[in-house]
Amino acid sequence: MERYQRHLSDTEVCQVCKGGVESILHVLRDCPAIADLWSCIVPIRKRREFFSTSLLPWLYDNLGNDVDMGGYGWSTVFAMAAWWAWKWRC
Ligand SMILES: [Zn+2]
Repeated sequence: MERYQRHLSDTEVCQVCKGGVESILHVLRDCPAIADLWSCIVPIRKRREFFSTSLLPWLYDNLGNDVDMGGYGWSTVFAMAAWWAWKWRC
């Protein structure tokens, strides 16, 4: 989306799923290519909120949440998954 707005690309559509605007939130959370991963690691009771918040609250809420996830804090699991999602797409 940013590349398109800066005339560095001729489309803002995600080239992986062709199903949405390739915003930061789409790349990190909403693209079907990464949403399946989140669905595997986000507890069912948290999914509705997880997939409905906007970018900054989503980042701050998850990075500030240290619920234990089997020996790791959620913020660590979240940060690693988001980092790999970003790295994979860039
Ligand atoms: Zn996509």
